Parts: sequence; structure tokens; C-alpha cells
Amino acid sequence: MNVYDGWRIAAMLDARGLAATDKISDADIIILNTCAVREKATNKVFSELGRVRDEKKSDALFGIVGCVAREVGAGAFRRIPELNFVLGPQSYHRLPDILDNPDARLLNIDLGGLEKFDELPQMTSSPVVSYIPIQEGCNHCCTYCIVPYTRGRELSRSFDDVMRDTIAAAKTGAVEICFLGQNVNGYKYTDENGREFRLSDLIRETAKIPEIKRIRFTSSYPTEMTDDLIQMFSIEPKLLPFLNMPIQSGAPDVLKRMNRPYSLDGYMDIINKLRLARPDIQISSDFIVGFPGESDSDFEQTLEIANRVRYINSYSFKYSPRPRTAAAIMPNQIPENIKKERLAILDARLGEIQREFNEGCVGRTMPCLYEGPDKTGKYMIFRTPYMQQCIVKDSPRADYKILNIKITAANKASLRGEISQD
Ligand code: SF4
Repeated sequence: MNVYDGWRIAAMLDARGLAATDKISDADIIILNTCAVREKATNKVFSELGRVRDEKKSDALFGIVGCVAREVGAGAFRRIPELNFVLGPQSYHRLPDILDNPDARLLNIDLGGLEKFDELPQMTSSPVVSYIPIQEGCNHCCTYCIVPYTRGRELSRSFDDVMRDTIAAAKTGAVEICFLGQNVNGYKYTDENGREFRLSDLIRETAKIPEIKRIRFTSSYPTEMTDDLIQMFSIEPKLLPFLNMPIQSGAPDVLKRMNRPYSLDGYMDIINKLRLARPDIQISSDFIVGFPGESDSDFEQTLEIANRVRYINSYSFKYSPRPRTAAAIMPNQIPENIKKERLAILDARLGEIQREFNEGCVGRTMPCLYEGPDKTGKYMIFRTPYMQQCIVKDSPRADYKILNIKITAANKASLRGEISQD
């Protein structure tokens, strides 16, 4: 979501005649787009703001947007008095106001709904992988999560608006569409005639666009994985055989305290249905270790589920208490050293599974999306249907989109390959 927001902010500034620079001292406006999911990220924002303040031109505008802005609000001005603006994730479309009125201070952290999408300028060029938000906010209220506070309750965009953006992205360079939402598979929109649209409808319609070759979506909540959506994996070849469906913990007691009301059997049933629909599907997950009250045996159960599902890549984090969340004041907070130890064990196991999967790909030929050259310009970076990075030593070409790549080597982090001549 932040990548999308950053992309739209850049487009807004571009429309005002501003060009990007990577030198802070050259910039006329500096914006930190922020994430509040973890405490460490929030703290980093303020040290970064201090650094920017010391390096920037004296008359340069600077401020923060996104979830930390929403979290700290006017308090940001108290901590960094030189800040010009603080805009929450649903009000960054107000950014041009500060350009029109640079002497004023701008604070807007409202949860205004979905108006920003109407006010953002139309896209004139799109990245090869284009992120299209279809809903914002979340109704699940996991006890550790600040998102329902920073992004608000769940709101789905209209089917027509999403398709308008998707078609615009396709016409201006997108080859892959990634539908986005905090609870993306909870997408539900009812039009004025009472017709209900789900994520499966968006996928079906998007697959009809000739320029779009690949479709995916993130991030999915397990119990919202409805049969119509699972069926899409069997009938729509453009939908990639890869799904991020976070489980967070393998221990029923911990899931209960997290307010994630699904059973392990229920979760495994969904995985089995997905595998029936698309035998080559691979799953990734997010994990939180050291949630309040997590015992050794709870943690063992998390390792067990990782072994059972064999997630091909995952994001695992130490539990991080966030303000205004129920888990932050739960008893039996886990000491930092235990969290650290458990995270290292889980990371090592997930890393092994990932390496084994990657090594199993050697010898296969896969249709891969060309993302562009690497920094040296000597290699091309492709993305497999399972989101693995595949590096090909060949001269970059601008006209590549999807090519068959034969995988020749693998390690945990990436693959090596060559353009298939078959
Ligand atoms: S489902 Fe995801 S976004 Fe929603 S409250 Fe839970 S962790 Fe946060």
C-alpha cells in the first residue's frame, strides 16, 4: 500500500512540474511516507526527519504522510517544529495545498473514506507491476494491530473505479496488476442496482484486458478466502499460482488472544482447497513471534505449521507493542531476548524451506516477468510466477515483458537463469 501511495504522490508532484532528485540538499519538497505497523519504524521516522532537517535547504518544504502521521498527528510538529505538513494515509491528496500555500502549516489526519482516489490525478505512465488499491482499512481488529486505527474501518472502492484505474494502468505500461488492500479478499461492493461485486469479479474482468498478463492480490485474511475466489485459481490462468495468506501463529491459544478466530484445521482446509484448485500453488505467510503469553509449546506449534504448509517465503517479526492496541497491555509480555531467539529459530527454518523450494526450481522453465536491469546494467531482473527474483546475465532490452526463463541455479534469496531457446 505504501508503494502505491508513494507512486501516486510522485505522480501528483510530477503533474505540478516537480522532478525527482536523490539529493536532499537539492530538494524543494521532501516527504517521508511512513508505516506505523512496528514501533521501530515509527522511531526511525523521527531520527530520519531530524537528519533531513539538518541537510535540507532552508526554504525546502518537508513533512510526513502515511500511518505515522495519522498516529502522532499534531505531536509531530511539537517534536520537529520545522515540519510543514503532516498528512494521514487518507488525506495525502491534499499535498498540493502546501505547495499553493507554503507559509501555512498543514495537518490533516482525517479518516475521510475513499475521496482521495477521486482527487488523485489520472496516471500517464505506469510501472510494469501496477498496484491497484481496491479497499482500505480493516474490520478484523487483531489485538496487536494499529491498522484499524491508522487506516480506519474497511471501505471497498466501486467496481467501476477499480476497473477504470486497472484499464488506465494497462494502457500506460502495466503488465502485471496487483490488487491491494489490508483485507483484500474482503472486497465487497454493491452498486446502485444492488449487484454485489467481489474480488473474483475484479479478477475475471481484469483477465480480459489483453495487455495484462499476470494478476495477483495481497494481503488475504484466511476466513475471507471464499469458494468463488478459490475457484479463480483453477479457471483463470493469468492469476498467479502464489498467495500470501498470513497465519501469524500456529498455536490456537495465541490465535485466540490475537483475535484471529480461525482454527488450524479450518486454515488447512483452505490450503487444501487451493491446492485442489491449482496444484502448483505456493503460499507465503506472515508470522509474529513472542506475542504476549506465547509459551515454548505455542512456538513449537508455529514451527510445525511452517513445516506442514511449507511456505515458500514469509515475513516474520518479533511482536511489537503498538499504542491503542489491546495486546500492548496484555499480561505476560515476552522478554526481548526470548523473542529474538524464537525469531532466529523460525527465520532459519523458513529460510531452509525457501532454499529447498528454490533449489527444486532448478531445471524448470518458467514464464517470468522482466522488471528491468540491475544497478550495473549487466544483468536483467525477472520475477517468476512465485515472486522469486531471477537474475539473467544478458544485455537488458526495453521490449521484454514476459519471457520463458530456464532456471540454472538457486540459493535462498534468488534464482539464476537463462532465456530459454525452446
Ligand atoms: S487483518 Fe491484518 S490489517 Fe486487519 S487488524 Fe488484522 S493484522 Fe491488522
